[in-house]
Order: sequence, then structure tokens, then C-alpha cells
Amino acid sequence: MDRRAKAGQVVVQYSSDAEIAAAIDALVVVPTLLIALDFDGTLAPEVDNPLDARALPEAQEQLMRMLELADTRMALISGRALDSLEHVAHLPGHVLFGGSHGLEYRLDEGDSALPMSEGHTAALMKLDVLMHELAASAEGAWVELKPAGRALHFRMTTPEDAERLHAEAVARVAAEMPGLTTRFGKNVVEFAVHSATKGDAIDRLRDYVGADAIFFAGDDTTDEDAIAVLGENDLGVRVGDAPSAARLRVAGTREIAAVLKVLADGRATAVSARKN
Ligand SMILES: [Mg+2]
Repeated sequence: MDRRAKAGQVVVQYSSDAEIAAAIDALVVVPTLLIALDFDGTLAPEVDNPLDARALPEAQEQLMRMLELADTRMALISGRALDSLEHVAHLPGHVLFGGSHGLEYRLDEGDSALPMSEGHTAALMKLDVLMHELAASAEGAWVELKPAGRALHFRMTTPEDAERLHAEAVARVAAEMPGLTTRFGKNVVEFAVHSATKGDAIDRLRDYVGADAIFFAGDDTTDEDAIAVLGENDLGVRVGDAPSAARLRVAGTREIAAVLKVLADGRATAVSARKN
């Protein structure tokens, strides 16, 4: 995994197998471990229809192994709405879910979400009209409904339309609905009338689980909010070549699956050693 990749002019250095092993060895010995993972682009390769996304089988296998381990909790933290996230995750009920970038949660006792005011609801309706108007102007563009926002997708448009839609969406929201939270992803721009971040989700799940340490992996700009709240006992992994504050970096979903195998092996050994 110590290949080099060129991203523009910057040479990105992926973490070596030895660096990964050393960081995981130090992590897995804590009493209670939370394994928190982004889904799209981290566990699952990007696909055209978001509902078709699935974790790579080799990643899924490691998730299922880790779900059986004592004092080890697993969470998926995603920009997806909860129902969409649960649909694609194919994981049993004791997995924790943080959806809509930390706005909604599915924990052991059920669902919860940050409450919306009348003002939020009115803004959401206005945003909905604006986004659908933009999407109608380009073949392949579509609007994803989020509980407190709308995401304009242009993965299936022409590159020219994608560039135009992106610019128009940002300009029109800035002019007509200033103050919304804006998030830029791969082939998507998302606006929220009421928002949280993946950092909020990490903080909330750390408290909820009583985690002594957290493993987190993600591939997009919004994952940096989660990486930013990690402490020195935690371990963050960034997937891909973009700038990151994460301690480790790997190339893609296959490489994350390999890291999850090292994590599952290490945690299984640590948990059984503590029992004896
Ligand atoms: Mg992602």
C-alpha cells in the first residue's frame, strides 16, 4: 500500500502496511472501541443510482466479524438520510446509524432527529422548488430529498451541465436563500436549512457508546469534520487523494477493506486476551 499517486501537482503518499499495523495495534487495546465508518466511497464504490450502492463483499465480511466482538460498537455516519443508509448497509439491528450528516440518528432505542421549526420547514419548501427548477434544466440531473435539505446530483449529466448547475445552484442559493449550509461532494451539491456535521455525529456517538477510542474512515470533504474532532487515542483514515488531517491515508474501497481486516484481526485478539 505504499504506492504513490499524483493528484494534480501534489504527490500523495499512502500509508504503508507497517504504519497501518502500528496505528491499529495501539488502537485495539482500549476497553470500549467505536468503529465509525462513512459508507459511499469508503465501504461502497460509487454507483450511478445511490440505492444500488453496496459495501464491497470483503469489507462487509469484516464488518460482520467485528459486530460479534464484545465491547466493540459499529456506526455508519453518512450524508444519506437514515432510511437510505439502512437500505444500502445490509447490517443487523445493533449497528448505530448517523444520517444526514449527523442530523438524524438510529440508536438502540429507536430514531431521533434534531427538531425543525416552522421557519426551517418554510425554507425547505422554497429550496425544494429552486432545486427542482435547476434539475429540470439538464438531462440526468436529479434532486435527492433530505429531511432538512436538498441535494442536487449531476453525476449523470454532461460535464458542461455539471459545471453550470453547480455554479448556478451556489449563486442562486446565495442570492435567494442566504445562510443555508452548503456542502460540496463528488458530483453533488447539497444545501441544508438546518444542519449538523459528521463531527457532531462523532461527538454524540462517542458519548452514547462510552467509547475509549474511535476508528473512523471516510472519503469526502464532509468526513474531515469527523476527522477534526478525533483525539490522540483515536484513529482517522482518509480514502483518496484530497488534503486531509487524518493520520492514515489509503487509495480506495479495496484498501479500506484490507485495513478493516487488520482492525478486525487485532480487535478480536485484544478482546479475547482481555477475557483471559
Ligand atoms: Mg463518502
